[in-house]
Amino acid sequence: GLMGTTLTVSVEAVNRPAALAASEKAIRALEAAEARLSTWRNDTELARLNRTAVGEAVELSQKLSSELAAVRYWWQETRGAFDPGIGTLVEAWGLRRGGSIPTADRLAQARSCSGLAALSLHGRMAVREHPGLIIEEGGFGKGAGLDEAIQALASSQVLSAMIDLGGQVALTGSGQSVALGIADPADRQKSVLTVSIHQGGLATSGNSERGLVIEGQRYSHILDPRTGQPAPDFGTLTVWAPDALAADCLSTGLYVLGP
Ligand code: ADP
Ligand code: MG
Repeated sequence: GLMGTTLTVSVEAVNRPAALAASEKAIRALEAAEARLSTWRNDTELARLNRTAVGEAVELSQKLSSELAAVRYWWQETRGAFDPGIGTLVEAWGLRRGGSIPTADRLAQARSCSGLAALSLHGRMAVREHPGLIIEEGGFGKGAGLDEAIQALASSQVLSAMIDLGGQVALTGSGQSVALGIADPADRQKSVLTVSIHQGGLATSGNSERGLVIEGQRYSHILDPRTGQPAPDFGTLTVWAPDALAADCLSTGLYVLGP
């Protein structure tokens, strides 16, 4: 288990030692990504950034700064529907504690101070511009980790590889296409569609199993930053993109935008 979910690494290489070495590298890269990005622990680089005083400039690692730049790009492209700067809103809805409906005051306060607009990022220098800016990796951390793992195992001896992190998949190499089933949102045992791909990242958002039930009512664990409310549960949305980070950010952001 990694990032709170299951991990499967499959590598096809010129021989068994090369395949084992490559899969070890992939797992270490995922562990490094978790140690940099997780906000479930307070010792990661992202958790430290979230605790930085407002107005204080901090120099980030090359990796975190480029991940945040990529995430900011998808925030802009989705006009804020994908917004990893909504940690305060996530907290107000108790998304990590089974969910609870915030009071009107709490919601208004969270909405007024949430959002990636309050992150200033120039190269490796970052500044939190608002005390309410908490960056939440839930919508992009798995994708970032997958990309890093795929890069780490690349070598002339590796022919192809597939990594599955809790249903999010990244593939590389010259292998044959892999047929991946897309689960029926109403019955996860059943697949409604099969996609055959040999490269890139595939991410699905909105599976109702991960939704919240508060006082008998179903809510999605994806929040609409424009309203401060959980996005309506319409099913699932799957994105195939050249890299896993893009697929992860876009599956979350496009889910908010709706069918
Ligand atoms: P999963 O976590 O099931 O893979 P997603 O990739 O869609 O699903 O991410 C959902 C998580 O992203 C939520 O649990 C929350 O941490 C965070 N999140 C919720 N709403 C948004 C949003 N509008 N933009 C970015 N991240 C979000
Ligand atoms: Mg996502």
